[in-house]
Amino acid sequence: MANLAFIGLGNMGGPMARNLIEAGHKLTVFDLSQSAVDELVSAGAHQADTAAAACSGADAVITMLPAGKHVAGIYLGEDGLLASLPAGALALDASTIDVQTAKQVAQAAADAGIDFMDTPVSGGVAAAAAGTLAFMCGGTAEAFTRAKEILSGMGNDEKIFHAGPSGAGQVAKAVNNMVLAIHMIGTSEALAMGVANGLDPAVLSEVMKASSGNNWSLQVYNPWPGVMPTAPASNDYKPGFMVDLMVKDLGLASDLAHSSGVTNHLGQLALERFRTHQAAGNGGRDFSSILETLLDQ
Ligand code: NAD
Repeated sequence: MANLAFIGLGNMGGPMARNLIEAGHKLTVFDLSQSAVDELVSAGAHQADTAAAACSGADAVITMLPAGKHVAGIYLGEDGLLASLPAGALALDASTIDVQTAKQVAQAAADAGIDFMDTPVSGGVAAAAAGTLAFMCGGTAEAFTRAKEILSGMGNDEKIFHAGPSGAGQVAKAVNNMVLAIHMIGTSEALAMGVANGLDPAVLSEVMKASSGNNWSLQVYNPWPGVMPTAPASNDYKPGFMVDLMVKDLGLASDLAHSSGVTNHLGQLALERFRTHQAAGNGGRDFSSILETLLDQ
């Protein structure tokens, strides 16, 4: 079992760090929020005074931060994590960030003799707590072999993928969440049209699940209130996965489409729809609440 540093103990990082302790690793943690640190200390972690201090002597660090600027800010520079980790250590950034920053930090890490991987996750807070996250990893094959031993404490082995070289994990994450946004809107439109024409949304959902319209939103995240008791739609759209985060991820997908010269019409339309929904005061609600924008018209 390894000596691990964990930085960023928020909605996702908190439960992920807990699972690593339960998997038998020794954890030293840091977060700007003392209450987040306290929760982990009560679960058995050691606390450090700074992010850099958490990394001294660590075999590996896992970071779970809001965005690219936080990741660059914490890894790079004289007091950054790359300067504090022992040579040969492994650095895993599970945050969802832009591809360019992921590649920039990976290059700086390689220069410092550190193995860096971008390892963004899919699955949300519930999967983080259950230890069933999917990981999409970008970096070398050697780093992936080392990373898998740690990531398996937070996710299902069969859902831990080596997506490709540095940055590939972030590419996979951005395109996956773009498809998620598109099929959530499409599923919401289909259900709204069915109900407007006299169909029961639960029956229509079963029909589509057994037909070619089947998708993840229908299977585990039905946007129509009452169809699926465990879905955010049946709990007043409490997140779940917030509209704010979907807007962020669609922005990353949009940047990626532009920088790679690919036209993503539906991705752009989804970004517009979610931005409008966010501007109407729904940023903190679950993203499946996009269904309401169809019923208001
Ligand atoms: P969060 O805001 O709950 O947590 C972020 C944590 O980072 C906070 O506790 C904050 O205090 C800490 N932090 C910020 N800057 C720091 C610094 N310089 N040093 C130390 N700690 C710092 O966010 P979250 O929901 O846990 O999401 C984290 C990442 O995971 C994001 O990139 C998000 O896009 C991604 N993600 C989230 C979900 C989800 O459902 N919440 C799902 C998949 C991926």
